[in-house]
Amino acid sequence: MDHEPGFDTLAVRAGQQRTNEMEQGEPIFTTSSYVFRSAAEAAAVFSGEKPGNIYSRFTNPTVRTFEQRLASLECGERCVATASGMAAILSCCMSLLNAGDHIVSSRAIFGSITVLFNDHLGRFGIETSYVAPADLQAWERAIRPNTRLLFVETPSNPMAEIADIAALAELAHTHGCLLVVDNCFCTPALQQPLRLGADIVIHSATKYIDGQGRAIGGAVVGRAEQLDKVLGFLRTAGPSMSPFNAWIFLKGLETLRLRMVAHSANALELAQWLEQQPGVKRVYYSGLLSHPQHSLAKRQQRAFGGVVAFELYGGGEAAWRLIDSTNLISITANLGDTKTTITHPATTTHGRLTPEARAEAGISDGLVRIAVGLEDVNDIKSDLERGLNKG
Ligand SMILES: *Cc1c(COP(=O)(O)O)cnc(C)c1O
Repeated sequence: MDHEPGFDTLAVRAGQQRTNEMEQGEPIFTTSSYVFRSAAEAAAVFSGEKPGNIYSRFTNPTVRTFEQRLASLECGERCVATASGMAAILSCCMSLLNAGDHIVSSRAIFGSITVLFNDHLGRFGIETSYVAPADLQAWERAIRPNTRLLFVETPSNPMAEIADIAALAELAHTHGCLLVVDNCFCTPALQQPLRLGADIVIHSATKYIDGQGRAIGGAVVGRAEQLDKVLGFLRTAGPSMSPFNAWIFLKGLETLRLRMVAHSANALELAQWLEQQPGVKRVYYSGLLSHPQHSLAKRQQRAFGGVVAFELYGGGEAAWRLIDSTNLISITANLGDTKTTITHPATTTHGRLTPEARAEAGISDGLVRIAVGLEDVNDIKSDLERGLNKG
């Protein structure tokens, strides 16, 4: 091709290298180790003099195809696939931080990452401060001389707060820090943080990259300078992605943009409809004109994603009543699936927080989160309507 291939072409083609079998699809290399033609070749590959595979904890061709495809979609130099989204953030922290370093993080991040920062990295002398994701001055005030990483997830879950990635990247670089963005909710189909100045993107491939609730996986994407260190940690510590899961995620990437556009269209229609329901106090979705950061979301994202949260007038009782009245929608805390899911954050995903911390994060008892799937949106509405307007 005489020009740069587009996103849709890369999603389908990037990273594939056919074997001598001339296969059309991507093969799954289910092998733990690799052989050499001679003792001398083994020595050369082990010493790094010659490129080649040694052991699937280090490298695997199916995993490599997934890494190259995701790197190209995120416009990153390199990608390292991991066993889960949590393994991606762990590998990032273990390879880029030292005892005595400091993280500034959005307070609205995936719950297990907060536990990782506080209870696990904390034991090794790495401290984390938390700020409201949209408050740039708070980020700046929290930075210390030993701050190494700024960590953010945008849009946040479940309140859909939007952080300004370009502004945070500039702030990070002014203070000699790296900006790490959890791009799980938008995926590169809707938002490319590296192009906005972020240094590292992490993913839970478990969510929209798979898109059909089949497998657990994750990835770290960025520049070779940092990713070499991440790979160094991963191949030693071992939270590597399995080739079978890499193959599932490869297939997921091929339809990712189409699915994200469809999830976003369904979610926007549902959010607008929810705003008109008498039992609904407020809807949190960055695609709505009523969202305080709608214009930033519009500038930074190609669409607004599939997750919609809303607060009911009737509090926790009304929330549980609504959830229990659904027939079609699945009651589960997972998201990023073709099947619509519903959850009550205050008693599930955010149940471990103290009531004060929940209040600060805006998670009231009347809050319900829906990860809108790909069913006919009219069926999703009628499944909710039954329980919504019961008083
Ligand atoms: C699920 C999730 C993670 C963790 O990923 P796992 O694959 O479950 O380990 C991290 N960040 C976000 C935003 C998530 O939704």
